[in-house]
Amino acid sequence: MNELSFQSHAPGYWAGANISPEDWNSAKWQLKNRVQSLEDIEQHLTLSEEERAGILLTGTKLATAVTPHFFNLIHPTDPNCPIRRQVIPRIEETYTDPSEMEDPCGEDSHMPVPGLVHRYPDRVLFLVTDRCASYCRYCTRSRVVSGVSEKKLETQWDQAIEYLKKTPQVRDVLLSGGDPLLFSDSKLEKLLTRLREIPHIQFLRIGSRIPLFLPQRITPELCKMLHKFHPLFISIHTNHPRELTSEVRDALGRLADSGIQMGNQSVLLKGVNDSSEVQRDLVQKLLMCRVRPYYLYQADLIEGTKHLRTGINKGLEIIDSLRGHTTGYGIPQYVVDGPGGGGKIPLNPEYVLERNEERVVLRNYEGKQFIYPEPQESAIPAS
Ligand SMILES: *Cc1c(COP(=O)(O)O)cnc(C)c1O
Repeated sequence: MNELSFQSHAPGYWAGANISPEDWNSAKWQLKNRVQSLEDIEQHLTLSEEERAGILLTGTKLATAVTPHFFNLIHPTDPNCPIRRQVIPRIEETYTDPSEMEDPCGEDSHMPVPGLVHRYPDRVLFLVTDRCASYCRYCTRSRVVSGVSEKKLETQWDQAIEYLKKTPQVRDVLLSGGDPLLFSDSKLEKLLTRLREIPHIQFLRIGSRIPLFLPQRITPELCKMLHKFHPLFISIHTNHPRELTSEVRDALGRLADSGIQMGNQSVLLKGVNDSSEVQRDLVQKLLMCRVRPYYLYQADLIEGTKHLRTGINKGLEIIDSLRGHTTGYGIPQYVVDGPGGGGKIPLNPEYVLERNEERVVLRNYEGKQFIYPEPQESAIPAS
């Protein structure tokens, strides 16, 4: 299959089930018909033992749910399918490595108000819901997301807005969760209006995987409403080029036409996108969808996700393989969230081979060496 083509997978596994295009294209129908149980999944896929046991055992940590749209991208028999590995649980999720944590990014300890994470001086992360259209098995917030674990997200709306009003150094609010685009247009509009009423808030962002999981939600009405709140950016979350179907491309086009700048955040995942070829196809296809690759995340140390993590060398190797070989706009910043609450730490391949007061020895993308002479105090003073 050519990963760079935009294929439609509708209605895929639902072909022959007599679903009208109106139903298929309705976000409500997609959400109501999410694939959630072992029985639902086995109707369409041949499962491995690891997957079957995983589906039965992991439901108390993070729910399983996949929209029909996204489910259609899963290979019927291949347990190594990169789409499958993102959303179908495996028994490995029940093992916890000693290095893993419930809250590896230390978010809970940086909340001045429940639901509001204030780690950086000028911006906050506002967790507005604990629900998503589908659940990613490596979710960084699996401790509170999906509503099945003991811990609950208890966002204090009024307190959070009060905190933002009396904290003028916050100029950037990032709405996340869960997925804020699951809110109805009117609920989201009310929230964005309350935020826009605060004079020092300059910049709004929404973090969402809805354009990939549920492109049907990106209606012209939603886009028209969002247009009122500029400057508004959306960070989407795509890991594999196959997720960019023709429906997704069109949904992203509607957002871009509404003046919304989009960045993509992907997570480096073993067996999903841990190769230079997949990452190159992904970033090039994102640019064709008018989305700028923003961050490539090293996978967080979430309990039960060791089978999805790669070493940091893999991420550095991927960035090295992109730089110089494709459009600069297509190269994301590779980051690691410092375990325990360090925030995002950028990592780059080494281009400086040697450095002293007189010169810096550099290498380019082809490995050729170049010398940049540092400015020296002149022996003869300029008159
Ligand atoms: C990622 C993140 C942000 C946003 O960081 P940017 O580098 O501006 O994208 C803000 N707050 C928290 C807690 C975050 O994890």
